[in-house]
Amino acid sequence: MIILGFESSCDETGVAAVSTQRGLLAHALHSQIAMHQEYGGVVPELASRDHIRRVLPLAAEVLRKAGLSFADLDAVAYTAGPGLAGALLVGASVAQAFAWARGLPAIPIHHLEGHLLSPLLSEPRPEFPFIALLVSGGHTQLMRVGGVGDYELLGETLDDAAGEAFDKTAKLLGLGYPGGPALSRLAEQGDPARYKLPRPMLHSGDLDFSFSGLKTAVLTRSKSLQAEPGGMSEQARADLAAGTEAAIVDVLAGKALAALKQTGLNRLVVAGGVGANRHLRRRLEQALQARGGRVYFPPLELCTDNGAMIAFAAALRVQAGLADLSGTGHAFTVHPRWDLQDVCARAA
Ligand code: ATP
Ligand code: MG
Ligand code: FE
Repeated sequence: MIILGFESSCDETGVAAVSTQRGLLAHALHSQIAMHQEYGGVVPELASRDHIRRVLPLAAEVLRKAGLSFADLDAVAYTAGPGLAGALLVGASVAQAFAWARGLPAIPIHHLEGHLLSPLLSEPRPEFPFIALLVSGGHTQLMRVGGVGDYELLGETLDDAAGEAFDKTAKLLGLGYPGGPALSRLAEQGDPARYKLPRPMLHSGDLDFSFSGLKTAVLTRSKSLQAEPGGMSEQARADLAAGTEAAIVDVLAGKALAALKQTGLNRLVVAGGVGANRHLRRRLEQALQARGGRVYFPPLELCTDNGAMIAFAAALRVQAGLADLSGTGHAFTVHPRWDLQDVCARAA
């Protein structure tokens, strides 16, 4: 079965073709980062309009790269939420239009399920069950994943997400948007031990997170550095960036290991944009090796939003018998706020 998937929940337009037998056939992506940069964050209306401009050329590109025509498609999939309502509606409407035109089933996908299952696009593929550390721009969650559609939330952030912590502290340090990659680059030149920063909730005894206190600590520290004669030096900025990254990585790694201990599992899957962070990757690789386990990541370019993870999640749901393939109703909806538990197969 060949599925064409669409992602448009935020500021990336992604399209991909996945075969249930052969895996990912082709994908194409357009990031709106440059467009939103001058506003310091995503402008929803601009995002929706740009998705409209990009989505059809990207679909054509994917079909061309995969050597497919519309007649080869067996189903379409789209991100139905969570995300920006207007942005979601673009991918959903285009997917539905394809479905109606060709009499295909359209499979709505939860964006986080896409992130969560994306490490299964890499080799070696993790076996179920595993612990998933989902660290994106909007979410920080630890989950026990028993199988496709079997997601048990073990803990999550009480305030900012890990990606948000990167983005907001980067902004404080005068780095661009999105801040994660920029902060991480600056941190390479810094000394993580120079400024003492908090590791919020690291020893709280549960699997929840909190990052807003860290942001405040960085703000206070950078204000006092700026107030010094000559302002904040380049080296001080790099040291503060390194300290921030180290604090976030310490907390994420500490809690992920606690989740493994608590569940007795030895496989950790990391998904979401912050999973691209090199320090986090290295730290978790070392930690899992030390306990005879293994950590799995999505392919680097599929850590942030993309269409491949959406088409792929749809393929896995089809294989697990969890997708409604019965037909093409004329009503569809998007869910700007949507709990992952709502797409779980298990009765709560
Ligand atoms: P969600 O999936 O929760 O709706 P999102 O789709 O905006 O949020 P992603 O696209 O998964 O999030 O990830 C984007 C986030 O990842 C941003 O906050 C960005 O700063 C962060 N990020 C990307 N690369 C890195 C990196 N190398 N180091 C740290 N953070 C990074
Ligand atoms: Mg994004
Ligand atoms: Fe995302």
